[in-house]
Amino acid sequence: MTATLTIKDLRVQVEGKEILKGLNLEINQGEVHAIMGPNGSGKSTLAYTLMGHPKYQVTGGSIEFKGQSLLELSPDERARLGIFLAFQYPVAIPGLSLANFLRSAVDAVRGAPANGNGKPALPVAEFRRLLNEKMELLQMDKTFARRYLNEGFSGGEKKRAEILQMAMLEPEIAILDETDSGLDIDALRVVSQGVNALAGPNIGILVITHYQRILNYIKPQFVHVMVQGQIVASGGPELALQLEAEGYDRYLKK
Ligand code: ADP
Ligand code: MG
Repeated sequence: MTATLTIKDLRVQVEGKEILKGLNLEINQGEVHAIMGPNGSGKSTLAYTLMGHPKYQVTGGSIEFKGQSLLELSPDERARLGIFLAFQYPVAIPGLSLANFLRSAVDAVRGAPANGNGKPALPVAEFRRLLNEKMELLQMDKTFARRYLNEGFSGGEKKRAEILQMAMLEPEIAILDETDSGLDIDALRVVSQGVNALAGPNIGILVITHYQRILNYIKPQFVHVMVQGQIVASGGPELALQLEAEGYDRYLKK
């Protein structure tokens, strides 16, 4: 059965201020979507809300995944159900290798006997095989997994670690928020190549970005424009081209 994430009339407040004002969106496994919008339109608020960040208070509407409401679920329960949300991992953990971090992450998501994915825990040898397979798929150097998590990582390497985590967890829906600051061209390429390598019938991907240029590398089937806490237009790849040419002006309320 196709897994579907359905967001209906979602209203979210941050510190008493309404940021998302009735947002509707549906993403199916197998689809690549992009949300684009000007700074401050609420894109990251949507990502944090989907993740279950306690600061983002849902005051109306619904978020359902595989027919189940996400709103009562903790972030790790959401992950076990098959949703991946890319974090920016600002914390470096000296002494913890990326491989060991990934092992813990995979155990946490797959290990539970009755998790949402129905995937069994992985024995060590299986984990190694999977890690090698994914690193090959993503054209990553094997030595990368031995490095300590985020210690001295460049922007591109942090993105590489994030994409590798996404590959290892094999989520049914992945949400990548390309925050507005400091995504250099290297990081942008890593994200794009990763998304392109991992996209397929088993995964739905939502790329949230304010950079139109990322769409030179990723070809989403669906493009949405977000302005002032709502999706104000949806279309195909041609919408991204139009935004690149014209900007957001026509969507801004006068
Ligand atoms: P975008 O990602 O589209 O640039 P954000 O979701 O980051 O937009 O922000 C939307 C609005 O919500 C902004 O006005 C911002 O100031 C406010 N906001 C977002 N997160 C917080 C927060 N943690 N605390 C206070 N205000 C916030
Ligand atoms: Mg943002």
